[in-house]
Amino acid sequence: ERESLLKLKDKGDITKDGREVGIYANIGSLDDLNSALYYGAKGIGLLRSEFQYLGRENYPGEEELFQAYKKTAETMGDRLVVIRTADLGADKQASYLEIPVETNPLMGNRGIRLSLDRKNLFKTQIRAIYRASWYGNLGMMYPMICSEEEMDEVEALVLEVKEELKAAGVPFKEIRTGIMMETPAAVMIGEELAKRVNFLGIGTNDLTQYTLAMDRQNPLLQKKYDDHHPAILKMIKMIVDAGHAQNCKVCLCGELAADTRLTETFLQMGVDALSVVPACILPVRKALRAVCIAEM
Ligand code: PEP
Ligand code: MG
Repeated sequence: ERESLLKLKDKGDITKDGREVGIYANIGSLDDLNSALYYGAKGIGLLRSEFQYLGRENYPGEEELFQAYKKTAETMGDRLVVIRTADLGADKQASYLEIPVETNPLMGNRGIRLSLDRKNLFKTQIRAIYRASWYGNLGMMYPMICSEEEMDEVEALVLEVKEELKAAGVPFKEIRTGIMMETPAAVMIGEELAKRVNFLGIGTNDLTQYTLAMDRQNPLLQKKYDDHHPAILKMIKMIVDAGHAQNCKVCLCGELAADTRLTETFLQMGVDALSVVPACILPVRKALRAVCIAEM
């Protein structure tokens, strides 16, 4: 079983009837880069950048962030690496952030809200990402977006960074940007958001949590936490359609992307790429290669 899976390491991500649907890796540290490459990931679909911010006394500086992104970009070469900007707050706390205690942290100052609240921290990360863009094929994706106003603020910061780098003669590339679709609000304004970026990432973990109004880590709700709920599947389809209407590629990058019972469904919906933890790449590739889209 394991051996026949391993044979798929160097095989293409291609359905029985010839459609290519890239399988990317979700990673949460630089150590995972090797296994992503080993299993033949097309790229990194989700780099959870929080690892450099957590478990320490002070926030990481631009140089430290830059070195890690540069190394990632160089290791992956031509393969796309999507860095998700810091998704801090809620369950990902760091003392130096000094976030006041919140009654409902999952609905609190987290993700892009916190980044826009701490603009210096955010700008430092964007600068590091753009500086590293020169060394490979980077993309940048924003977590927990709920509104166009948030994107106005993000775009203004990105513009500022690019102008500063240009003025200082620091080389960088234009990189692809994306929005994580992980709140019901984002889904409802999908086309408006898609107009502003090059791709959409579907974060089914948070999307399920916020759609069902169930904490994804609450053990008492485990049995009721239904990530195959028709509302979730319908939202995924809505995101794909909104993205495609605005020329955005749509990548599914929540844990649900690794659920091979749904691979056929996702492909049928038109999902362009799947991003899963490295250990799930081969099982998903196996499922994908058995699907015949035209037949369905
Ligand atoms: C998600 O919410 O589905 C996601 C991919 O991001 P995270 O699990 O890091 O919140
Ligand atoms: Mg999320």
